[in-house]
Amino acid sequence: MQQRNSSRRPGAAPEAPEESRPEGGERVVDSHVHCHEFSRDELNGYLKSWTLVCVSDDVSSSRRTLEIAGAVRCLGIHPWRVESAQPGDLETLLKLVERSEVPCVGEVGLDRRFVQHTIERQREYFKAFLRLARELDLVVNVHAPDAWHEALDGLRRADIDRALIHWYTGPVELLETIRDLGYYISINPAVAIQRRHQEVAREADRRIVVLESDGPYEYRGLRLAPPAIRMAVEKLAELWGVPQNCVSEIVGTNAKRLWRL
Ligand SMILES: [Zn+2]
Repeated sequence: MQQRNSSRRPGAAPEAPEESRPEGGERVVDSHVHCHEFSRDELNGYLKSWTLVCVSDDVSSSRRTLEIAGAVRCLGIHPWRVESAQPGDLETLLKLVERSEVPCVGEVGLDRRFVQHTIERQREYFKAFLRLARELDLVVNVHAPDAWHEALDGLRRADIDRALIHWYTGPVELLETIRDLGYYISINPAVAIQRRHQEVAREADRRIVVLESDGPYEYRGLRLAPPAIRMAVEKLAELWGVPQNCVSEIVGTNAKRLWRL
């Protein structure tokens, strides 16, 4: 068993019991998954074999995430939900993060690809989450399609120590900046078919790569959920020219460092 990091926040949920782990195998970490959208049974099944970093979309899903034992829990308001958020939701969520002592905020960020029309409000929400993350030393689980530069700039200005830029398909030139800031990117099973993501996976410094499913979600016929992470491992092995167990070891080490597992 891994040594516990003494700085682990007291509110971090307990791990699933040791005996539920697959024989001899390391638990794979899914660093970005919408656990609250799975049925109870399905989620309990996944929790037996994977370490899940559960992100939330709004106030009600954040409350549901909080009830999930045995996972790393992230609370937040997704950029897509900023538009439907009620007055007071942001304050409610910030208080919830503070009170519940979770180790992470997310899914938060900026999105100029799908919801450009709410960008001003997104900026206001993102800034508020970053301030709190800085104050409480939380990881930020970031969504930033076509706002890669601006989101990174926000993280840097807010002096955030630990961040994950999820399903990164931004400019490869930015990968170095992400690494130098001490941040991580997650590779999604979509890497099996998404060219842009393949390019990112090939170019990124391996020390900043972790894996995610972003499930439950469907991407061009792929059912994204924790078991699909196997496809990301296979593709990375091919792109990196190393055996699959070597990929698992690298991304596993990275995830432990990022999440202080
Ligand atoms: Zn997501």
